[in-house]
Amino acid sequence: MNGADSLESLKTLLAKLPGVGRRSAARMAVHAASRRDGYLRQLITVLEQVEREMVACSQCGAMTTVDRTPCRLCIDPRRDDRMVCVVEDPEDIEIMERAGVYRGRYFALGGKLAPTRGDQAVLARVQQLTARIRAGGVDEVLLALNSDVESDATAHYIAEQLGGLAVRVSRLARGIPAGSGLAYADPVTLEAAVRHRTAY
Ligand SMILES: [Zn+2]
Repeated sequence: MNGADSLESLKTLLAKLPGVGRRSAARMAVHAASRRDGYLRQLITVLEQVEREMVACSQCGAMTTVDRTPCRLCIDPRRDDRMVCVVEDPEDIEIMERAGVYRGRYFALGGKLAPTRGDQAVLARVQQLTARIRAGGVDEVLLALNSDVESDATAHYIAEQLGGLAVRVSRLARGIPAGSGLAYADPVTLEAAVRHRTAY
């Protein structure tokens, strides 16, 4: 690999991150490559650390350390096992926690279903969710998905899968900004959306 190739590889890898387009990936790569203040070395060290130490929780999918899976939220005995809140991204769990209105368990899908992609990983997560509900002990599944067409389709699919099971399916009350995600809702709005959740 010659120098120009390594820069191209960096651009390609960065462009695979969510929310990073080709142009910003190119800017980031050139910027990083031009720094000579130890930043790259620091980045390498932290990336290696993250690869070694972090993992998705075996139950909820939140990021946790390898020695703590299931994560602290999944094993906390003060939390309500009878309720499961389904979110798209693991980061949404932190957003819900910051709003401080929810005391049940979580389940992150790791994305949403897009008709054009037929996302296998998300389908597998929905199957895991269905198995967990079928195992019993959960009264309510709260769908706290984002507010766009694909998220609505994902919520609809999950509700369909849970349809025959003895569980209530609810969703956040409207108030999450249309076309966006939980990350754009302030804690007060999110709290109201959980409090006034409606039957799916
Ligand atoms: Zn967990």
